[in-house]
Amino acid sequence: MLHRPNTAREAIGRWPGILQALGIDEKHLRNKHGPCPHCGGKDRFRFDDKDGRGTWFCSQCGSGDGFALLRNLHGWEFSKAAKEVDAVLGTIQAGPVKAERSEESKLKALRNVWSQSRAVTRGDPVWRYLNARVGIEDVPADLRFHPALRYRDNDGKDLGVFPAMVARLRDPAGNGVSIHRTYLTDAGTKAPVGQVKKIMPGKPLNQAAVRLSDVGTHLGIAEGIETALAAFSRFGVPTWAATTAQLLEDWVPPAGVERVLIAGDNDNSFTGQAAAFALAKRLTLAGLTVEVRIPESDGKDWADR
Ligand SMILES: [Zn+2]
Repeated sequence: MLHRPNTAREAIGRWPGILQALGIDEKHLRNKHGPCPHCGGKDRFRFDDKDGRGTWFCSQCGSGDGFALLRNLHGWEFSKAAKEVDAVLGTIQAGPVKAERSEESKLKALRNVWSQSRAVTRGDPVWRYLNARVGIEDVPADLRFHPALRYRDNDGKDLGVFPAMVARLRDPAGNGVSIHRTYLTDAGTKAPVGQVKKIMPGKPLNQAAVRLSDVGTHLGIAEGIETALAAFSRFGVPTWAATTAQLLEDWVPPAGVERVLIAGDNDNSFTGQAAAFALAKRLTLAGLTVEVRIPESDGKDWADR
């Protein structure tokens, strides 16, 4: 991670206090669904504070740790967030830390889901879903079809199994770190569940993406899988999917990439645009040739038609 290691380590177990001290109302800091402190709504947000790292997720903003929440909310850079956390740390008592699942059990679950999935074939629910959304015929190999993937809601309640699109998230070196799931119906529409898209617990996700093509010197990056596939057909540049705004902002292209097309989302909250331009700024400063495309209509991504 890019946070200063001491701040991150010392903040463990103190996030409820830190976040309150930095302007987040206590009502958001519960392991229960409620409005998101950043984008509002009614029950899209939950603060689960895994491993005492201040973790949370929001079905609109994505997920992250305490630093990510502060960055989202206040528009702070990493360094600014670390500085603000440093400034309040000393006054806050550490609470008990809830242990996350073991590394081994998470990796086992990832291997199981991947081995139960198969290549997408014409007419299966994943093919129908992608064909209807973005018109493609041939589906990249890192997108697969799982015939019966279990869905648990965020409180752990089992809602049964659904067909699903599973997508491998890889780090910049190409190693698998987790799996992104899109729950579907047999007809290839979105499943009737609270959160259609979810990422499995796995290895740290920062800098990961779903690779929808081979590595080339000119690569595109978008937030959603559907958006990336639509951007590829629209702009003719093979485009990968970061899957969330936060991962888009943090994305690191693999070695060999010289030119990047960022196919951003036009969010009414400006979350997608902010992530796209933050990434553009970082990659430009790193010496890459960067181009940003954002759809002109409010609230649209490149897969909306
Ligand atoms: Zn949110």
